[in-house]
Amino acid sequence: MSTSTVTNKSSLDQLSTKITVVGAGLAGSECALQLADMGYSVLLYEMRTQTMTEAHKTGDFAELVCSNSFGSLSPESAPGQLKWEAETLNSYILKIAKQNQVPAGQALGMDREAFARNVSQVVKQHPRIEICHDVVTSLSQIQTPAVIATGPLTHPELAEDLKKHFGDEFLYFFDAIAPIIDTDSINFDIAWKADRYDKGTADYINCPMDKEQYENFIREITAARKIEPKHFETTNFFEGCMPIEVMVERGPETLRFGPMKPVGLRNPKTGRDAHACVQLRQDNKDATAYNIVGFQTRMAYGEQTRIFRMIPGLENAEFLKLGSIHRNLFINTPKRLNADLSSQNNPMLFFAGQITGVEGYFESASIGLLVAHFVDQKIKNQAPSIPPRDSLLGSLLNAITDPERAENFQPTNVNFGLFPPMSDHNGKKIRDKATKKKLQIERAQKAFLQWSSELGKNHQGSLNN
Ligand SMILES: Cc1cc2nc3c(=O)[nH]c(=O)nc-3n(C[C@H](O)[C@H](O)[C@H](O)COP(=O)(O)OP(=O)(O)OC[C@H]3O[C@@H](n4cnc5c(N)ncnc54)[C@H](O)[C@@H]3O)c2cc1C
Repeated sequence: MSTSTVTNKSSLDQLSTKITVVGAGLAGSECALQLADMGYSVLLYEMRTQTMTEAHKTGDFAELVCSNSFGSLSPESAPGQLKWEAETLNSYILKIAKQNQVPAGQALGMDREAFARNVSQVVKQHPRIEICHDVVTSLSQIQTPAVIATGPLTHPELAEDLKKHFGDEFLYFFDAIAPIIDTDSINFDIAWKADRYDKGTADYINCPMDKEQYENFIREITAARKIEPKHFETTNFFEGCMPIEVMVERGPETLRFGPMKPVGLRNPKTGRDAHACVQLRQDNKDATAYNIVGFQTRMAYGEQTRIFRMIPGLENAEFLKLGSIHRNLFINTPKRLNADLSSQNNPMLFFAGQITGVEGYFESASIGLLVAHFVDQKIKNQAPSIPPRDSLLGSLLNAITDPERAENFQPTNVNFGLFPPMSDHNGKKIRDKATKKKLQIERAQKAFLQWSSELGKNHQGSLNN
């Protein structure tokens, strides 16, 4: 890619500018749709089904490779706030997710197949998006302006070329996937449906364990054969997607304080709380499949079937998909990208999604949305309009671009810790957590609305509409 292309492109008229987007995942699909709506022609590359990744199973765009949830919709939570901000910017991915929602308590769960099929349709039907089902193996293959949104499982040849482009090693860690079970194979003489503290609409299936069953279960997980990653010497796991066996290594009680937490789940068959409780979440609209919440694992397949059938209620479980482990690749964004997520080596080469060091489906889609605006601004020779630091999108962007984070750069999902500190009117620290969060959300919404109105957008209504 030559720098002269970059200079020429920056003065081109919007309607005649063709923008390349590589990767039709969560970030690439959102980015392509936003750019096309702005009036640009988009050439969208997606290598599947010609070449598959280790985790994707279909040729559909925005395929969800593991859980079928975008996390909480609660307006008091960080994921809920990110959705509010993305909705303010008219996120396509959020709209389509809501159209394919399945019951999942406070979370935005989706029928994974219907969702991805729907995203594919919307992208393919957009008159300004042209699809090319080729693998991009080198940057020289594409025209700028371009957005690389090839995700954590970027094709190895492109990853090599990106390494050359940036002049240093990519970072990596490992992710694991949780198993999915055929609903008809769950034993409801033992399992029951309920939400924690009976807060929601009884969306989760709960499988109780007594102390002895729990201890046997932990013993078997400890002894089980695990699949070790081949390509790297050390294994870094992202905290939010840690395999259960790695949690068990931290202590036998860890699962009881994590995915097997029994609190707020009184067993109606015994009238008591169990010693530990496994939860399953609906995986598709027809409720024919459920995934085991938080049970991502790299145990060998045979071991998974044997050990997970020890869970009361899952004695005869039929596994539609077993857990597995995958590499996850990202750029050291604070060192290598500009504040608008363009390369420091080529200002018309942008990056979006998980490859920039955000973690999570919806975080990836949100960065895709934001980058569409950055591309538009650069083409128009405008300075990038960075979302305010008080907003969650601004805080997320800050978390991946702040040079102070470059040394031990680790992917991040959204959480309250990303926000700037919050003090009361007298400049004193607010100690009450709930009050602090409420004020942080209020401050975020105010700042975001002001910023987004400058982008010419208006909030389209409340999340739960
Ligand atoms: C195994 C695994 C499990 C995960 N589980 C979860 C989870 O449960 N919940 C969660 O919130 N997040 C999860 N994540 C993290 C992350 O949010 C998702 O990976 C998310 O899909 C990232 O979005 P993206 O758009 O950046 O990448 P992707 O959605 O992966 O999209 C990238 C696209 O680029 C295509 N592509 C790659 N290379 C090329 C190339 N050279 N040429 C053309 N096309 C190319 C791919 O086929 C893919 O369609 C998981 C990640 C992994 C790897």
